[in-house]
Amino acid sequence: MKCFLDRDGIFNYDDGYVGTIERFRWYENIFIILSILKSKGCSSFIVITNQSGIGRGYYSEDSFVKLSKWMCDVVEQKVGIKLKIVYCPHKPEDNCKCRKPKTGMFEHFIIDQTDIMIGDKSTDMLAAKKAGIKNRWLISTVETKYYSEKFASHDELIQMLELW
Ligand SMILES: [Mg+2]
Ligand SMILES: [Zn+2]
Repeated sequence: MKCFLDRDGIFNYDDGYVGTIERFRWYENIFIILSILKSKGCSSFIVITNQSGIGRGYYSEDSFVKLSKWMCDVVEQKVGIKLKIVYCPHKPEDNCKCRKPKTGMFEHFIIDQTDIMIGDKSTDMLAAKKAGIKNRWLISTVETKYYSEKFASHDELIQMLELW
């Protein structure tokens, strides 16, 4: 079982183009979600994130990489999980193959029936669906498509996981 996760809106509040540690505000409940999944046998955790802020020049790739390393360190210290982070730095106009809802970022991995995608946008769910991921968990009160299960908040997902 592998768990793929979107970043903005899942690990941190989506304040728009978060490319520096200073602007990164954790959802504290993500640590609970990660540790429950680990206890249920999830063996790898992969962040799949669109970061067009790099392509648009809102923050540098260096800054994003620094933020990502720090994020991985915090997660490892708190819950003993080594995150892998895969990102698309392109703008929509670049027409790359990696920007969700395209599937490029999933193509480094062999997907199996037990894999999970957790995201907050229909585009996360669509990318995961096209990549063959069956368990597509959407945390949102507004987005409505391509998910297999939907939760109004991180807390609601935790409630489900505790009974899972
Ligand atoms: Mg998001
Ligand atoms: Zn891309």
